[in-house]
Amino acid sequence: MSFSVPKSHPRYESLYYRHKIEEGFRSDVAAAAGLIAHGRGEAFDYLLGEKSSDFAIEAQTAAVAALLVAESPVISVNGNLASLVPEATVELAELTKAKLEINLFYYSDNRVNAIYKALEDAGAKQIYGLPEDLTATIPEIDHNRRKVDPRGILIADWVFVPLEDGDRTQALVKNNKKVITVDLNPLSRTAQSANVTIVNNIVRALPEMIEIAHNLKKSNQDLRKIIENYNNKQILAQSLNKINSNLQDLSKTISDKN
Ligand code: ATP
Repeated sequence: MSFSVPKSHPRYESLYYRHKIEEGFRSDVAAAAGLIAHGRGEAFDYLLGEKSSDFAIEAQTAAVAALLVAESPVISVNGNLASLVPEATVELAELTKAKLEINLFYYSDNRVNAIYKALEDAGAKQIYGLPEDLTATIPEIDHNRRKVDPRGILIADWVFVPLEDGDRTQALVKNNKKVITVDLNPLSRTAQSANVTIVNNIVRALPEMIEIAHNLKKSNQDLRKIIENYNNKQILAQSLNKINSNLQDLSKTISDKN
């Protein structure tokens, strides 16, 4: 199925990524529920003005700093991530020496294999979390995702779980993992319980994180200081203030027209 919307269409980007998710769904990479989650993300992106705010850049910088100083960083890959930005996911993993582990809420061997292929096509050299490798468990999760790869999430200190559900994020935190997430909804349980919450669209966040990683690696900035000075509660508050002020501005623009 080809994508035929012209670039001049005012919603080109949004339609392009919808197409990517749809393609992911057709090839077993994304779950049906992933389509719904994507729509919820789009709604919040509207409210955030569909651009990366300062608080997102600050969280992205702290996240990259954390991945770079981590002893055993892991990027947890689900169907939406592999549908939307497989190349950028692989590139960020390489730059930060993070392992890539497939971890699914709606688990099936077929989906794991489809995601494996998407990551491999995007250039990944090593991928964890294949069905035969899920021999360890993370306690306190009562579904399939308690199963993890003993070489990956089980021994990770920092875990990057973009587009994640709340139960799992909370379980990872309870198991003493430091958690980074990307979630356009600052009210979700994931956003509220992660250590670093990037309130941004994954399609903007990942390329920006790659650039940040290049810059931080070149600079002599103290990465630990960046993490120490980071305050996730403030970032969440700023994201809600941004939604609030955007709505007030929009409502004023509309009422001024009358
Ligand atoms: P929680 O379980 O954390 O309370 P939830 O039930 O919304 O939240 P999911 O549906 O599993 O959890 O998570 C998907 C999350 O990902 C949603 O909060 C959605 O806003 C967000 N999301 C979807 N698409 C994107 C995207 N492209 N970029 C960033 N976030 C996204």
